[in-house]
Amino acid sequence: MNIPQASSSNWKKLMQLRGVARSMIRTRVGCDSQTFFWDNNWLQGGPLTFRATPGFIRDSHIPAEQRLFAFSSNNNWEFPIEITQQFPDLLLLDPPCNTPDKVEWIPSPTGIFSLTNTVAWLAPRHQPRPWNHLVWNSFSIPRCKFSFWLAVQRRLPTKDRRCMQSFPGSKLCLLCQSVDELHDHLFFSCSFTRPIWSFLQLKCRFRASNLSWEEFVNWASNHWRGRTLQNSVKKLVISTIVNRIWTKRNERIFRQKRCSQSRILKQTMEMVKQRLQSMRVKDSITARRLVLEWDLPQSFIRPPPEPD
Ligand SMILES: [Zn+2]
Repeated sequence: MNIPQASSSNWKKLMQLRGVARSMIRTRVGCDSQTFFWDNNWLQGGPLTFRATPGFIRDSHIPAEQRLFAFSSNNNWEFPIEITQQFPDLLLLDPPCNTPDKVEWIPSPTGIFSLTNTVAWLAPRHQPRPWNHLVWNSFSIPRCKFSFWLAVQRRLPTKDRRCMQSFPGSKLCLLCQSVDELHDHLFFSCSFTRPIWSFLQLKCRFRASNLSWEEFVNWASNHWRGRTLQNSVKKLVISTIVNRIWTKRNERIFRQKRCSQSRILKQTMEMVKQRLQSMRVKDSITARRLVLEWDLPQSFIRPPPEPD
């Protein structure tokens, strides 16, 4: 649900905390599952709806109201193969147990909400990670944030990671077919993704070539720290392209669907443009430049307040 523009600033701040609160709620799956397959937080990696594109969810033919327990059979889980391929951590899920489903408040040892435990649980997380602002900002597209968050921590299940070792087949990068797929390779050492990356650097007016993924994250964390419009757009672009590359890589592996570099680039640009079209910013030289460069409507620039 989008935050209504007319909301008070306090209400907007509260609404923006929904993601934080949601990350503290976990469902322990039992035998009478009321748990929703897509929306509830029952798997360690977070709600599946955050980890898949709308296209993947639609093509799975698993409806939004699908209960998780529909996939249990004879005290075991039986998920469709394309689902386990998309979410390999499902293979590590404990078998269904005989206790009822239970919704737990993660910060409390009892599972019941407690303000003291919540504050204590949040405290260490407030130690800022230098890349926090790259991921958690108001410009980036919500569904791109999760894959980007995993990427900055090098936790995407690329072929070199242990959870993918059990999958048979070549370890070669499917995008370039020339070297092993390592996390650092995909973003952006791969000869397939590098030209896309170069184009976006030109478009966003920065140069970060010849950096490893980790070096790039450190570099961007330092250089894009200010909350300027220009920096916000760069963060939007990087999180979107990481999401697109990861999604297209998964489609090649699991659905044998190929997508050209130009198509990935066009989709990325279109997603960024649509996101910018939904925003309203103060008039400035940068805002006017963005209108021209991204072909945005004039409504992107908020009109000055009417004089009294
Ligand atoms: Zn490659």
